[in-house]
Amino acid sequence: MAVNGGHIAPVPHDLILRAPKALLHDHLDGGLRPQTIIDLAEDAGYPDLPASDAASLARWFTEAAYSGSLERYLETFRHTVGVTQTAAALHRVAHECALDLAADGVVYAEIRYAPELHVQQGLSLEEIVEAVLAGFAQGEREVSAAGQRIRIGVLLTAMRTAMHSRQIAELAVRYRDMGVVGFDIAGAEAGFPPTRHLDAFEYLRRENAHFTIHAGEGFGLPSIWEAIQWCGADRLGHGVRIVDDLTVHPDGRVELGRLAAYIRDRRIPLEMCPSSNVQTGAARSIAEHPLGLLRRLGFRVTVNTDNRLMSGTSMTREMELLSEAFGYGLADLEWLTVNAMKSAFIPFDERLVIINEQIKPQYAALKAVLADRVTGRE
Ligand SMILES: [Zn+2]
Repeated sequence: MAVNGGHIAPVPHDLILRAPKALLHDHLDGGLRPQTIIDLAEDAGYPDLPASDAASLARWFTEAAYSGSLERYLETFRHTVGVTQTAAALHRVAHECALDLAADGVVYAEIRYAPELHVQQGLSLEEIVEAVLAGFAQGEREVSAAGQRIRIGVLLTAMRTAMHSRQIAELAVRYRDMGVVGFDIAGAEAGFPPTRHLDAFEYLRRENAHFTIHAGEGFGLPSIWEAIQWCGADRLGHGVRIVDDLTVHPDGRVELGRLAAYIRDRRIPLEMCPSSNVQTGAARSIAEHPLGLLRRLGFRVTVNTDNRLMSGTSMTREMELLSEAFGYGLADLEWLTVNAMKSAFIPFDERLVIINEQIKPQYAALKAVLADRVTGRE
């Protein structure tokens, strides 16, 4: 821990864990508890799990995700989706997701999933949406009964490789006053440009609804450009490849291309997921992750988990990695958190309440704890 004019980094683990966090990009089917997968597989008579105890199964997931093989990575989702084909299973994973995030210090989260992937045993799209919403609501109630607060909004995802996006967009609008706060498209990016789903995005804009688009992760600038300028995305899922539109000169000066400048100047939020980006090769390492540079240039950067199970991560871990790699102190982590909260899809006045009543006072308290700890040591 180094102290530099009041700036203390890296921030100790226990303080990062306690810090209030806002999470915008997390997949429900990427965050199951390993033991839950085993239980659900047993209930459903699902035969294909690659391991039968929680510890080996957890290891199998992270190994497959770090293998560099897209096939193995996709297989991980085949299992998590395979065991969540009933309303009870969906309710359980949503409920546990809320509890796990609250235990990680998350006070606000937007969790996304693709309803169209959970119809294999005959559930209707409405039954799927309602089971997940009920699971989150139960989690929120339990967290609140234990004296903490978490709010969860749902994003409905359409698979970009399929053609159900308009139907899923309509579903998102139908449930928008019941806990669904937005829409997203996900899945293989190369060969499946966002404009393929223009009809869905135009519909959402006519409905004054919010959406984000996975873009600039597996494919570069054209995907980001389409997501923003053709589809009108409010936010970018990942967006890491926006660095392709930056020129770093030998003297350290950085020049922004027109698209990069537009995204920075319009304050378009980037939902960055450091560990996941390293796994998929969108970034070489945490230390070389574009988040550091984009933050310095004033982009609206946010930190996210993407798939907690596959990446073996949490918000606490992502923040610790950044604190270590970039020397971020509590003020930096707070800045990233407020950025995320400002970029949330819930109403502006409700975002402000979370910023002013939870994030700012809790960070002020943590800064005081850390300062005391440092003085105590001197
Ligand atoms: Zn994602």
